[in-house]
Amino acid sequence: MNDGILSFSSKDDKNSDKKNEELISPKDHPMDTESEVVSLRPECFDDYVGQADTVETLKIAIQAAKMRGESLDHVLLHGPPGLGKTTISHIIANEMGGGLTITSGPALEKGGDLIGMLTNLGTGDILFIDEIHRLPKTVEEFLYPAMEDYAVDFVFDAGLNARCHRYQLKRFVLVGATTRVGLLSSPLRDRFGIFRNLDFYTDEELVTIVKRSGKLLGVPMDDSGALELAKRSRGTPRIANRLLKRVRDYSMVRSGGEITRSSVEAALALEGIDSKGLTVLDRNYLKTIIEFYRGGPVGIEAVSATLQEETDTLVDVVEPYLLKIGMVMRTSAGRKASAEAYEHLGINYQMELF
Ligand code: ADP
Repeated sequence: MNDGILSFSSKDDKNSDKKNEELISPKDHPMDTESEVVSLRPECFDDYVGQADTVETLKIAIQAAKMRGESLDHVLLHGPPGLGKTTISHIIANEMGGGLTITSGPALEKGGDLIGMLTNLGTGDILFIDEIHRLPKTVEEFLYPAMEDYAVDFVFDAGLNARCHRYQLKRFVLVGATTRVGLLSSPLRDRFGIFRNLDFYTDEELVTIVKRSGKLLGVPMDDSGALELAKRSRGTPRIANRLLKRVRDYSMVRSGGEITRSSVEAALALEGIDSKGLTVLDRNYLKTIIEFYRGGPVGIEAVSATLQEETDTLVDVVEPYLLKIGMVMRTSAGRKASAEAYEHLGINYQMELF
């Protein structure tokens, strides 16, 4: 089953079309390459840890759709990268027994790209569009009738000779994922029947995830090692799995193979990851606000210019977790570093105020 993305999208060899293969680009989903070695990606809800409300909503919707013999409503998933949005689309496809086609907003440059993909879908198939907020407007407009009436409208010729032909599609399920739901147009957002927000994971949930991954990878790990890894994973399963692999290497080479608290501490110190799981970029972001902008408030563009880092990276990847753990605050005047951020970086809070 897990021999790469294209295998998911080619249940009936429908996507052998070269154009579509280019659009379903594995490079858009770097974590999917893990499936070539050993897949850590859960394939059913029983293995999917956490996000209890979302899982319950989806289980009910899937069971009800099956009982009625209908297709599932379109699903929109919102949350920072690595929280399990793509994984949910795999699970929905497994549970519904449909094929899965994976693409992303920026990969669909023209209406024709999307139409090619839509017309290849069979009844009950899942189309997963990652970063759906980055879908070009002209492409997005083809999605409206496709989502609502399972149809695409072709326009031939122009001006007085213009003719419209409606092509009927099979009843597919669109699963959209976005890190920025605010950038989605309301006509698109309103066409999703199910909208779920994914939250960061708790330490206990991440312990369960790293223990499961450790078992799949065949790495011995004690409880203190699992907890330390969980605490340093920024609430994100993808990071937990990535760090697990780094610590596995370190433990094999330097400390007898078993992952323990001390091997996690030593391995992650080499990676520049501190006791709260903050990376060099996280700390530079906080230091920029504190040292360059006297703790803020400061606009995100100013921080990104000083750091020479893309604004989108700061907003999508860095800030969500720092906001979650209260290191930074978003005010109407801009970003402000909190007292916890000063304390964590060892900078005197009172002195900075004057
Ligand atoms: P996203 O699409 O939100 O960026 P993914 O679904 O690609 O994130 O998740 C990244 C990886 O994290 C997956 O390959 C899987 O190994 C792991 N993962 C994500 N969510 C969970 C979960 N709820 N339980 C266990 N592992 C998870």
